[in-house]
Amino acid sequence: MQTIYHQLPADEVLQKLQATAEGLSTEEVNRRQEEYGLNKIPQPKSKTLLGIFFRQFLNPLIYVLIAAAIISATTGDITDAIFITFIIVFNAILGTYQEWRAENSAQALKDMVKVKCRVKRGGHILEIDSEALVPGDIVLLESGYKVPADMRLLEVKDLSVEEALLTGESVPVIKNTEQLNGGEDLALGDRLNMVFAATTVQKGRGTGIVTATAEHTQIGKIADSLRTTESEKPPLERRMESFSRKISIIVLVVCAILGVIGYFEGTSAKDIFFLMVAVGVSAIPEGLPVALTVALSIGTRRMARRNVIVRKLPAVEGLGSCTMIASDKTGTLTMDQQSVKKLYMPNGKSYDVTGEGYNGEGEIHDDGEKVTEIDGPLQKFLIASILSNEGILRKTEKGWEHSGDAVDVAFRALAYKIGKDPKYFQQQGKLKELIPYESERKFSAVFFEKENRLLFAMKGAVEVILKKLPAEKQQEINRVAEQMAADGYRVLALAGAEVVDTKIDNLHSLELLGLIGMIDPLRPEAREAVEECKRAGINVIMVTGDHPATALVIAKSLGIAEKPEDVATGAELSGTEGMPAKELAQKIKNKKVFARVAPLQKQKIVEAMKATGHFIAVTGDGANDAPALKSAHIGVAMGAGTDLAKEASSIIVTDNNFASIAAGVEEGRFTFDNLRKIIYMLLSTGAAELLSIALVIVLNMPLPFIAVQLLWLNLVTNGIQDIALSFEKGDFAVMNKPPRKPGESIFDRLMNTQIIVSGLVIAGVVFAAWHYMLLQGFDEKHARTIVVMLMVLMQNFHVLNCRSETKSIFKIPFSNNYVLIAGIALAQVVHISAAYIPVLNDTLQLEPIKLKEWLLLLPAAASIIGVMEIFKWWWRSREGKKEL
Ligand code: ADP
Ligand code: MG
Repeated sequence: MQTIYHQLPADEVLQKLQATAEGLSTEEVNRRQEEYGLNKIPQPKSKTLLGIFFRQFLNPLIYVLIAAAIISATTGDITDAIFITFIIVFNAILGTYQEWRAENSAQALKDMVKVKCRVKRGGHILEIDSEALVPGDIVLLESGYKVPADMRLLEVKDLSVEEALLTGESVPVIKNTEQLNGGEDLALGDRLNMVFAATTVQKGRGTGIVTATAEHTQIGKIADSLRTTESEKPPLERRMESFSRKISIIVLVVCAILGVIGYFEGTSAKDIFFLMVAVGVSAIPEGLPVALTVALSIGTRRMARRNVIVRKLPAVEGLGSCTMIASDKTGTLTMDQQSVKKLYMPNGKSYDVTGEGYNGEGEIHDDGEKVTEIDGPLQKFLIASILSNEGILRKTEKGWEHSGDAVDVAFRALAYKIGKDPKYFQQQGKLKELIPYESERKFSAVFFEKENRLLFAMKGAVEVILKKLPAEKQQEINRVAEQMAADGYRVLALAGAEVVDTKIDNLHSLELLGLIGMIDPLRPEAREAVEECKRAGINVIMVTGDHPATALVIAKSLGIAEKPEDVATGAELSGTEGMPAKELAQKIKNKKVFARVAPLQKQKIVEAMKATGHFIAVTGDGANDAPALKSAHIGVAMGAGTDLAKEASSIIVTDNNFASIAAGVEEGRFTFDNLRKIIYMLLSTGAAELLSIALVIVLNMPLPFIAVQLLWLNLVTNGIQDIALSFEKGDFAVMNKPPRKPGESIFDRLMNTQIIVSGLVIAGVVFAAWHYMLLQGFDEKHARTIVVMLMVLMQNFHVLNCRSETKSIFKIPFSNNYVLIAGIALAQVVHISAAYIPVLNDTLQLEPIKLKEWLLLLPAAASIIGVMEIFKWWWRSREGKKEL
């Protein structure tokens, strides 16, 4: 019989699970891990290999090819039929392989985003991977994070949980710890004393005991019936598909016209049909969608190497075209390694503090003298700061261990620096109620008992605390705080009072306990990354919850802002709530720093910037950043951020670093460039084939290629090399150019002209060679072999042209893309061997060609490089651009 935990009182749940509120011992955890395995929450099923394979055939072009195979078979051309079937299957396998790889790497990326949780084990609070949870573990829940397993709640504080995934109900459920009736039949949504894996904590805190992990959780039981919603296709992919459709129609019309001409010239209906199929295959860029998927997935892999994880594929391209980045300050531009540097006491005394980072090493100095005595004010200050604190900092054999909010950790470090374990201050008061820090409140507070008195203390942003102090004190304290902020410190204030009850609303005349100035060092790479973004034509703005003066100091040293007028504050924005985005945009479009901003105002800012035409990437980490992240064109969550922020984002930056966002922009631009190269390649070679055939048909000459040869050219030899273009290493010059206009067509002047010029040249050379050989009375089969080889060679050379749209190919090292070089070599090897393989050479009507002929073909084919080099040179000088 399975235990029904919501029916039991909390202590019985503990008993059943053989656990205590202090958590399991290490040995017990090990034993249970052995018994229950990893807590892997089953994921909804993704695409299957077979599914992907069969989908490859859902394509009009393939239908035509299948028809061609059937017609060949029924008219006795068995080898042709087999060949076409082979081509179809070869293509399907290639496509499946590419898509499957893309799918897998997307999955692998998802797995890189680890879900962490806080547990209590052996009396200590630890941060662990959620996968290591076992039944009986005591888990601490916090707003913004995923519930890592099914749990019975033991304690709650304003806990509300969003359970839509399980119950379909999108309104968060307010949880409690009361025992419930109703047994198994009680609906999940009504089990208020339970929380379930894969749901998200929207608000508050809670503690629960794990009742089920992995497949035994509620989500595990229904995982099979959950399907990933078919992810929406990237806009670029949709554009490409509609583009392919348009081209297909044009090609069909051209084919029909050529067919009619051919018919009147006396070609048999069957031959015409086959030729039309082959011409269709050459001119329709059917490889485009696959090439696109491949290029984007290579882009995501490259981004992952630079700590940027792409959750939604369109973001690869989107990041490259963003025109504005709205960045968080703390943790993104700075290290979020808060260290207390200054202490200001209410009696006017001030201290300096030494030491940096997440450790307790350092000293507190009073006028250069090390402080060892803890006087009254200092004692009160430290008790308040340790009790209103959720951080953890302790020394183990392995060194300093920390977890939780960096500000809170910094306060704990301060305790060590005065020579005491934080526990010492913790034990000075008996905790009654903790009001945890949430960024919309900008403070944390605590009610506690000390010597039979009920006391209250709060720590938080100066303005918030100031309001609670007696009016006559405010000005003087504010002056000190402003000075500290202008010196670049992040300033927090602490205040407290004796109270009668634990109601926070009727608290006024608090007594100041102290001011504190912290330093959060800049990320060393940030300045240069901001610089790089500026060069790339991207506006960088800072949106922070911190004080305007502190924010300006940091913005200045990063080169984001220069003067106080660049800063707007949340207070200035309040009152603009109802204002249309366009109007707000007028007010704030020149601001660089937004300080003391509330999370909802952040969303407003994003909307306003969008209204000015910006394509905007926004960073965030907190639960309440989610609306802004969703509003942004590209939401960027921090690896250290909450699960909620991650889910609202299309990109996750694993090292929380602004420089990685800049790297992502660069990779996004590289990827887009590579896409253009592939499109250029596919369309120009298609155009060349179509043109050369049209020309001979119109001139009533024998055809230079037979149908199967065209299929071979397009789907085998060319297919091998064009995808290799997406491996091209990026050209760093992309970061010296302004961003592409969002939504701008790929087919700009340069693209169109290049396609036409190169298509004409290839078609011209092939036609000339064919014409010449016919005049010289060459054997038709041999002449055809030569023309096909010429075509393969020209495509081999032309793919080199496609490596850059403006740069000479002699300036691009081969080392930028060995895959491409290998692809070209492979295409040659495959093609040359085809002439020697029995049956295949018969089907393709290829004969071995002599080395001498091959050597003669080389310069003829190389003409395409010559022409395109001249074209690029002309284009560069016309654009007045230096060679990039
Ligand atoms: P940022 O945008 O720099 O990340 P936050 O929203 O984290 O800013 O913090 C805003 C303000 O809230 C800080 O300037 C500070 O005054 C206050 N604050 C931050 N962390 C804490 C904490 N753990 N306890 C109390 N107050 C805090
Ligand atoms: Mg913060």
